[in-house]
Amino acid sequence: MHERSLVQNLLKQVRQIVEAQGGGRVSEICVQAGDLSGVEPLLFAAAFEEMVVDVFSVECRLKLDLVPVTAVCTHCQHEFEVLDFQFHCPECGSGTVDVIQGDDLQLISVTLETIDSREGVSS
Ligand SMILES: [Zn+2]
Repeated sequence: MHERSLVQNLLKQVRQIVEAQGGGRVSEICVQAGDLSGVEPLLFAAAFEEMVVDVFSVECRLKLDLVPVTAVCTHCQHEFEVLDFQFHCPECGSGTVDVIQGDDLQLISVTLETIDSREGVSS
């Protein structure tokens, strides 16, 4: 399933962040998915809930924002929102555009609860 590999990559990124921060409990993961990423929010959330427990042993909140597809015209540099997969510049009619947002799944933020009340830490 497409969503499972996306979730797997996402959790890998999150784990690297947690390790870089020196550990902690992940309480919320915030991601943005573009229309072109092919992410089905319900399937993604279901795969996330199932897999996050395997990776972090706890559940955490998932915040999934859907973002519109944005492209920039390589001819006149006009930025526009792509509707109905119409990849043509509305300003000059050029069909040569670069998608600058909305074609992937992006990790926006990870909220960590630092474990400061761990037993046996006091000296
Ligand atoms: Zn243009």
